[in-house]
Amino acid sequence: MEINLDLKDELKNFLKKGKQYTIPIFIPHKGCPNNCVFCNQKKISGQLTDVTSEDVKDKIEEYLKYYSNSKKKIEIAFFGGSFTGIPMDKQIEYLEVANGYVKKGLVDAIRISTRPDYIDGKILDVMKKYNVKTIELGVQSMDDKILALSKRGHTALDVVNASKLIRYYDIELGHQIMIGLPGSTRESEVYTIKECLKLHPQQLRIYPVYVIADSELYSMYENGEYKPLSINEAVKRCKAVIYECQKTDISIIRLGLQSTDEITAKNKELRGPVSDNLAEYVMSALVRDKIEYEIKNRRIDDSKLIINVSKKYVSICIGPKKINKLYFEDKYNIKFIVKGE
Ligand code: SF4
Repeated sequence: MEINLDLKDELKNFLKKGKQYTIPIFIPHKGCPNNCVFCNQKKISGQLTDVTSEDVKDKIEEYLKYYSNSKKKIEIAFFGGSFTGIPMDKQIEYLEVANGYVKKGLVDAIRISTRPDYIDGKILDVMKKYNVKTIELGVQSMDDKILALSKRGHTALDVVNASKLIRYYDIELGHQIMIGLPGSTRESEVYTIKECLKLHPQQLRIYPVYVIADSELYSMYENGEYKPLSINEAVKRCKAVIYECQKTDISIIRLGLQSTDEITAKNKELRGPVSDNLAEYVMSALVRDKIEYEIKNRRIDDSKLIINVSKKYVSICIGPKKINKLYFEDKYNIKFIVKGE
């Protein structure tokens, strides 16, 4: 049997990812009054000291040495999750430095990430003044019960209000959601993404929950109150979220963490669906569903299943560790061949 596969619809949300370089600057929220169970902010950022404007400048200069000859766009991204919760004079100090590079034409854009309850008109006036192009909100869940169990300290309504205000200010909106929070299920995660999509974010990050040492979640894990997801479970739950995204044009700019990310690099004792290539596993699972759908009503009377697909999708069709190849060969007792056109 031979199938010509067009995967544009299945993978469109991943393919929209913009081609640009990011200069990541981690701003830990020292003294954060919140106590999210999954967080140990100092561990996440790997920085115990205050970040100075000199540090910001040095980091930008360091990255520009590698990026400046490229034609790709360059973005400065203040990560850390609570940028607009740190003292305003500090925010302005950092933004002054970043915006200086935008004004000189050395950098194209600035992005920040923050909490939904740290957004108001006054804050957005400052973000606009300093040319912040994108604001990512740490939504995590749109189910108030799950937000409370994770001790997030904000509600789904805060997400709605902040998202509407960001869009009103004509700033690009990103949402970050988490898969596998305490009390969370596949259904509540599908509910979360549906509620998020109603607010029209342009970008989405999906992070499965990792258990970090020194976090409250770690104690919950040790007491047996919390069981982290396996990689397989995380793939299935992410897939359910992505099926909702496929109904829209949202760009999935990140799925999972990599060992080069701050959290994974600085924490060797992580528990949960830790994988460098979770995104590939999820994409391959989407493709597997598509192939399964295509062969559903056909009789496999051949010893071979040949998939003709665009060259760029060959490895996704086969899957990491040949997961799809092994799946089809085992289930249908055939030879699974992928041909790149
Ligand atoms: S994740 Fe929660 S506890 Fe950690 S810095 Fe952000 S708001 Fe504070």
